[in-house]
Amino acid sequence: MRYIFWIFVILFLSPVNLDAAEQDILVKFKENTFSISNSILKFNSKKIKENLYLVKNGDLEKIKRSPNVKYAEPNFTISLDPVIESEDGEAWGIEKIQAKRLWEEKIVGSKDIVVAVIDTGVDYTHEALKGNIWTNEKEIPNNGVDDDENGFVDDIHGWDFANGDADPMDDNNHGTHCSGIIGGKGVGVAKNVKIMALKFLTHDGKGDLLGAVQSIEYARKMGADIMSNSWGASGFTSKILEDQIKEAEKAGIIFVAAAGNEYHNNDTTPTYPASFKLNNVISVAATDKEDKKAWFSNWGETVHVAAPGVVIYSSVIGNKYKTYSGTSMAAPHVTGLVVLLLQGGYDPMKIRDLLIESSDSVSDLKGKVKAKGRVNAYRAYHNFRMNVE
Ligand code: CA
Repeated sequence: MRYIFWIFVILFLSPVNLDAAEQDILVKFKENTFSISNSILKFNSKKIKENLYLVKNGDLEKIKRSPNVKYAEPNFTISLDPVIESEDGEAWGIEKIQAKRLWEEKIVGSKDIVVAVIDTGVDYTHEALKGNIWTNEKEIPNNGVDDDENGFVDDIHGWDFANGDADPMDDNNHGTHCSGIIGGKGVGVAKNVKIMALKFLTHDGKGDLLGAVQSIEYARKMGADIMSNSWGASGFTSKILEDQIKEAEKAGIIFVAAAGNEYHNNDTTPTYPASFKLNNVISVAATDKEDKKAWFSNWGETVHVAAPGVVIYSSVIGNKYKTYSGTSMAAPHVTGLVVLLLQGGYDPMKIRDLLIESSDSVSDLKGKVKAKGRVNAYRAYHNFRMNVE
C-alpha cells in the first residue's frame, strides 16, 4: 500500500516541474549589439546584467526575431526533485561507497574546497553544518556595504536569489538535507569542506530559470570548486542555462546534477541540467541499500554514475534530522566524493571518467547508467579502474 502511495506521489508531482505560462522572458543579447533604445526594452524590462534582461509579459516570437537577440527563452519555473520522506533511515551511503576507508587514510576532504549547494538554501546554524560553512572573508557582515564589490551587499554565506536578499537560510529542508550528505558532521561523505549556500528555490521548492542562472554565476565568480544540483526538469531546455554551466566548465568547476525522479530514460527524455552534454556535468542516478536502482530514478547512457539515494538520513533545519529518498540524495553523495578526490589533486575534468571506470559493477545497473555500477570512493581515489582489483 505504501509503495502504491509513493508511485502516486511521484507521478503526481513530477510533471508539474515547469510552466511557461507567465511569459516572462529572459533575453540575452549578442555581445555589444543591444541598445537601450531597442524596442524590446521599451516596456516592462529589468536589466539583470550587461546583456541579459528580464522582459515582463513579452511576446516571445517577436523578441526572437530581433537581430540583436542571441537567445530569448521563457523564464521557466523550476522545481526541486520531489523527495519521499520516511520514518527510519541511516547515513548508510558513506559506508556503501567506501568513503570511510578513505577516512582511515586521512582523506577526509579539505576546508580549501568550496561546494556551492544550489537549492532551497542551507541552515548554516545547524550543529552538523556550522563548522563547514563557507564565509565570504572580504565582506563585513551587516554593514550595508558591498565590501568586496561583487554586486551583492552583505553576502556572507552566499545569496538568496529566490527572495532577493543576502540571507540564504533554508526554509524548506531540502538544501540542508543535501548539504548534510556532502559535508554534515556524522552524516556526510566529506568531513571537511566549505559549503556555499545559494538559494533559488522558495519555501515550496519552486524557483525560476533566472535564479538558477544567477546562482551558478555567483558560485563561479566566488570560487566554488563544485556545484551540487538536486533539481531539474524535463520538457524544456535553455541555452542561457547551458551557457552558464559552460562558463563553469571553462573555469574547471564540476557540476554534479541529479538525474531526476520521473522513472524515465534520460537518453530519450532529457532532464536538465543533468542532460547537458558538457564535460563538467556529472549526472547521478539513485540506488538503494542492496545496490538496486531506485525504482523512481531516471536512467540512460547519458546518466553517468549511480549513488545511494534511498532512505538517506541527513540534517534538516532547526538541528533536526530526517530520512529522504530521491536522486536529490544521490547527487550530493557524488559531490562529497568529488571533494575527497579534489583533496587528492585529481584533475577536475578527469574525475567524471574516473568515477565511471572505478564504480563497483552492479548487475541491476547494467545498461541503466554509463558506469554499469555504483560509485566507490576508495577505488576512485586509488585509481582502480574496472576489472582491476
Ligand atoms: Ca559583496
